[in-house]
Amino acid sequence: MRGLVSSIQPGGTMRTVQSLMHKFDWKHFAVTLLLIGPAVIPAIAQEDMHDPTESLQGKPQASLLPRPLGAIARQDVDEKGMAALIHGMVNCGTRLSISSWTDPKRGIGCGRDHVLARLRQFAADSGSKLQVIVDKYTAESERTGGGPAAMENVYAILPGSDPKLVKTLFIVSGHMDSLSSRWTDPVPDAPGADDDASGTAVSVECARLLSKIAADGKSPFRATILFTAVSGEEQGLLGSQHLLEWTKQQGYTVGGMLDDDIVGADLAPGGPHRVRLFSGNGEVDDCDSPSRELARTIEEIDGRSAIRMIFRVDRYGRGGDHYYFYKAGLPAVRFTEPLEHYAHEHQTPRMEDGVEYGDLEKYLSFPFIGDVAWDNAEALRQLAMAPAPPTEVLLKGAVTPDAKISWSAGDDPERAGFEILWRETTDPHWQVYDFVPNAGETTLKGVSTDNHFFAVRAVGKNGARSIAVPTVPAARSALPVKKQ
Ligand SMILES: [Zn+2]
Repeated sequence: MRGLVSSIQPGGTMRTVQSLMHKFDWKHFAVTLLLIGPAVIPAIAQEDMHDPTESLQGKPQASLLPRPLGAIARQDVDEKGMAALIHGMVNCGTRLSISSWTDPKRGIGCGRDHVLARLRQFAADSGSKLQVIVDKYTAESERTGGGPAAMENVYAILPGSDPKLVKTLFIVSGHMDSLSSRWTDPVPDAPGADDDASGTAVSVECARLLSKIAADGKSPFRATILFTAVSGEEQGLLGSQHLLEWTKQQGYTVGGMLDDDIVGADLAPGGPHRVRLFSGNGEVDDCDSPSRELARTIEEIDGRSAIRMIFRVDRYGRGGDHYYFYKAGLPAVRFTEPLEHYAHEHQTPRMEDGVEYGDLEKYLSFPFIGDVAWDNAEALRQLAMAPAPPTEVLLKGAVTPDAKISWSAGDDPERAGFEILWRETTDPHWQVYDFVPNAGETTLKGVSTDNHFFAVRAVGKNGARSIAVPTVPAARSALPVKKQ
């Protein structure tokens, strides 16, 4: 993918050299150089750059498996097909969740029909490996017009090929409903091109790209992938709340949930045009949430030039369909365009004081939406190929010179082993400390428990990595593990 990540950024190296120049005792250095010769220069620099108790010299030099072959090519993303779906959805006039589910020309039912038609085509193309279902339910909130309202979610399921992981679910989701300036009124137009026909188109395009891979011979996807278009988002995240319940009823464990909401426009001038990826902190001290670990995994797969990680659960004061998954302790993140334009969201189309309001197709950027679909699809591809993450990942060794990390994992003949990860407490990115073939306990010689955070992830023989599981203190192992 774009911008493969190197463990040391060029900018960081420059800054380190500059700070050494300031700190260095040049007079003493000149004398030393005369006495012992220039061979000492690297050793002095090395000692000055790293805390002596955690020197990189002591770090094992593990050889690491390359990432899985067969990455999705950018030119395989069908921007025209995504544009056609968005156009069809916008032409439904409004897709308010409490508009008509039965009128084929206007209302949310019209939007659902466009999504279904496209997914059913992909299902047929995949030889029925992709399975499409409509999940009907009722839901109520203060925005459903005074009582329970009929709702529908569309699901396309690509079952995993590995019996061990077929009940692990990776979800990509957009919401097909839209909103005008009048939140419970189905009369005004609510085109919802960006919010969220764009995210729906990303989810549907992922279904096309990944079901095509699964249809060609033996599916590489060990876990199950679910492509969803939910309703009721604008009425209070009703569709995604229902989706979370549905995953429990079906006996799935959610391995990751990728919410795409407002991913259609890229109006901000300049900049690298990275999609924002929001993830919440979690509630455990010194240990990031599974959502944060999912965000890191996606950034590592897609590259830092594609993904801008934002360390907050959502835009300030706002919410989205990943929220209830995140609150349930599951890995759930939100993709959103680089900078939103509020005159284009939740507005009845109109001109007012020379300003055009409305969430219209003309503001969309299809090269950008195509990039977001690519980012989602490649992340899902690698996640669904990966072994299960390790469990019971504990840190021991407080008040001793060495950190000790232990973890458990079920049998898995497709797993090559585990990567021990570490990072400075202020560094947002993991680095690989070592590779270990088997679960159990490993000692990080001369590494203090205090100055880094640690994690473990599983690595498949195919090179796919699970999300990282950060350590918790061994004393905390009695804490209930959050499960859905
Ligand atoms: Zn939205």
